[in-house]
Amino acid sequence: MANSTGTTSGKVRSALVIGGGIAGPVTAMALQRAGIEATVFEAYDGPADEVGGGMGLAPNGFQAFDAIGVGDAIRAVSAEMNGIVLQSWNGRRLAQFGTLPGIDPMRFVIRAKLFRTLREAAEERGLTTVYGRRIVDASEDADGVTARFEDGSTATADVLIGADGLRSTVRRLIEPTAPAPQFAGTIGFGALIPAVGVAPTDGRMHMAFGRRCFFAWQVFADGTGVWFVNLPVAHPLSIGEQRERGGAYWLDHLAKVCEGDTTPAQLMLAATDPGTMLFAGGMEKMPRAVRWSRGRLVLTGDAAHAPSSSSGQGASLAAESSVELARCLRDLPLPQALARYENLRRPRVERIIKETARTNARKAAGPVARVVRDALLPVVFKLTKPEKSAWQFRYPIDFDAPVA
Ligand SMILES: Cc1cc2nc3c(=O)[nH]c(=O)nc-3n(C[C@H](O)[C@H](O)[C@H](O)COP(=O)(O)OP(=O)(O)OC[C@H]3O[C@@H](n4cnc5c(N)ncnc54)[C@H](O)[C@@H]3O)c2cc1C
Repeated sequence: MANSTGTTSGKVRSALVIGGGIAGPVTAMALQRAGIEATVFEAYDGPADEVGGGMGLAPNGFQAFDAIGVGDAIRAVSAEMNGIVLQSWNGRRLAQFGTLPGIDPMRFVIRAKLFRTLREAAEERGLTTVYGRRIVDASEDADGVTARFEDGSTATADVLIGADGLRSTVRRLIEPTAPAPQFAGTIGFGALIPAVGVAPTDGRMHMAFGRRCFFAWQVFADGTGVWFVNLPVAHPLSIGEQRERGGAYWLDHLAKVCEGDTTPAQLMLAATDPGTMLFAGGMEKMPRAVRWSRGRLVLTGDAAHAPSSSSGQGASLAAESSVELARCLRDLPLPQALARYENLRRPRVERIIKETARTNARKAAGPVARVVRDALLPVVFKLTKPEKSAWQFRYPIDFDAPVA
């Protein structure tokens, strides 16, 4: 498969988007809006409509989704989170965050629903995703860049965008010595459940630093709810390995792990249909990518910048970067576009990554660290003015405004 390539002006007309996760379809839709022909190449043989647990979407992410006209479709499959309540294993409230004035609330979404919504929106717009294409190499010359896939096929375009996630191959093609992501100490689970008599949480997500795991839950007005768990483990398990043991095994295990914590975990786990349990695999942290681009290769989404899974910012920052990359490619010749893109995005994403990095360590805290954490958290949060983080949530994108 080949796209049209080559321009004398250095302006990009075609793109290979590697990875059909969250950033992939967003990038393709943004490029289409920018007048750039885009094809998505995904390693899996078909759409991964069932993969992943629950996640937060930040208001800044919606500003990016709105810029390409998919914000409302995502609002329709997600639920408002009017606040977050943090508590200790014994029910002691450690901190509470509400919404900030003038800023929309965070929203909660099951990753598979977000993915399906983006995939369907891209399909409706006539964008093509080619499945079963795992990139293994890329070569470039003055006319374009050619991706080589594991099955021997190739594709050529003006630019190649790596939206291939945390374990990005494109990142290694850009920087062969790029460090791999590191296991962050926990594996994730989640589920949607029917009404079981747990009181609605008024739009708030409750998060408990339990004695042996981190348990979060939200109960909606109709009594149905959602829970997710981060379970500290010595060795990471993949989603496949989690799934192999089966939902019933894990529900039993999690019930034991949550025993004695003052949360509705026992009720909610007992009400969970083992067949509908969501597995999220090992939580990973990614070391800073030194380079975001080289020649005609560039990164977006988790491949470029992955905040901790507790930041509530991963998908939102991915969407922002993907939309901004399309604007830069629309308005500037390739080398300047990629330099401008990194210069526009890196300071913001690295500041957010730094500010949100500590939560994962808190989730996997050992007994001593737990006592220290529970003692210090209320003080830390009292001293922290929530308005100080408001800058994270404001990122208006005027798609049509030219990139300087
Ligand atoms: C348990 C968990 C909870 C999370 N919670 C949150 C949260 O609350 N809020 C939030 O915003 N984010 C959260 N995240 C992170 C969020 O899911 C990611 O930040 C977001 O999905 C980034 O999208 P992406 O497209 O860059 O990467 P991905 O969604 O990982 O997509 C990458 C795609 O590339 C494909 N691919 C990989 N290698 C190749 C290759 N060689 N060739 C072709 N295709 C390839 C993959 O199959 C995949 O489809 C969470 C993540 C996890 C695991």
